[in-house]
Amino acid sequence: MTAEIINGKEIAAKKREEIAKEVEKLKENGVTPGLAVILVGNNHASRTYVTNKQKSCQELGMHSILIEMPEEVSEEELLGKIDELNQDPEIHGILVQLPIPKHIDEKKVIESISPLKDVDGFHPVNIGRMMTGQNTFLPCTPYGIMVLLEETGISVAGKHVVVVGRSNIVGKPVGQLMLNQHATVTYCHSKTKDLKSYTKQADIVVAAVGIANFIKADHIKEGAVVIDVGINRNEAGKLCGDVDFEEVSQVAGYITPVPKGVGPMTITMLMYNTVKSAAESSNR
Ligand code: NDP
Repeated sequence: MTAEIINGKEIAAKKREEIAKEVEKLKENGVTPGLAVILVGNNHASRTYVTNKQKSCQELGMHSILIEMPEEVSEEELLGKIDELNQDPEIHGILVQLPIPKHIDEKKVIESISPLKDVDGFHPVNIGRMMTGQNTFLPCTPYGIMVLLEETGISVAGKHVVVVGRSNIVGKPVGQLMLNQHATVTYCHSKTKDLKSYTKQADIVVAAVGIANFIKADHIKEGAVVIDVGINRNEAGKLCGDVDFEEVSQVAGYITPVPKGVGPMTITMLMYNTVKSAAESSNR
């Protein structure tokens, strides 16, 4: 068996067309969706992510600003900047690129962003809203995974979903979104005993572990859907996921590749959330 590939790049492009149309409509009504990104320090990967986010905003005709702060910036100064952006009517989304330096309390920073502008969906208020199935900003990577499945025509209702990984930004919320859509969800993590015995039962496996090629063919039930969130480098320095694509694609029914799988959806849903915020602000 050779799995059908879920093409994240194509699905993201389709979603972006829809988002661009929505941006045009908002602009006709005098509202230009605006995203502010704060980058603290000089982390190379963070800089790449931030540049890509800005580029996406430009491509979609949105307003975007980048605020760069030095590594040694004080917590007070960062919180002051966020407060300023919370008040700025031209800014509909605020994002602080993580990780931030250790001397700054990450929780405090996340909680200082107005839930109405929290387009990353990390604020506890928005996480609570997600858990209770209310209108909110859904975290971008998990949301992107749900859109990939929907666009591929894969319903999760009644399916057994096994999520490997329980981080606050990927594992936990993706399981919750699956549950909201009526899946039966099992979470696995580094303390799980006999991981295979769980993944083998899954109709859908989401791998969000951060270990290159960790999920092998013998973890997967024949015909299962395999979603690979991982972004890793293998020994040769090549980009790869948490799933051993070559092996697993021989067993799975559907699989997301790395790159061009989940990755392109993350920024797309960030754009979606920013436009949603702009639309909602104009209705308030
Ligand atoms: P974290 O490091 O925060 O979480 C990793 C999770 O994997 C933890 O819950 C950990 O368990 C679990 N884990 C670690 N080792 C094992 C093991 N041996 N068996 C089972 N579970 C294990 O990572 P993130 O969730 O932030 O990211 C996961 C991956 O996804 C990374 O490669 C990251 O780069 C990528 N990523 C990709 C995005 C995209 O847009 N495509 C966006 C965000 C992340 P425990 O909790 O017990 O420690």
